[in-house]
Amino acid sequence: MTTNIQNALARASKIKMSVRYLGGRTYVVITPEAHRYVVRFETIEGLRYGRCQCKAGAARLACKNLAKAAAVDTGIRNSQGH
Ligand SMILES: [Zn+2]
Repeated sequence: MTTNIQNALARASKIKMSVRYLGGRTYVVITPEAHRYVVRFETIEGLRYGRCQCKAGAARLACKNLAKAAAVDTGIRNSQGH
């Protein structure tokens, strides 16, 4: 996990967003303003990559939506024993 993602995760923990699991590695993050962003993850050679639909995500920044979805993704992967 990069420092960028950890910083984004710290910010995300203060923001109330909900995450819906769509299946596979795809999530929808719903912000307090009711914006919805689709976040997708893939793992390449043991490293997790995520893409978010928002402006920050399009600029390949670790946005708070991505961080929030990453926390859920980690929880799901752990519960599956991966
Ligand atoms: Zn985003």
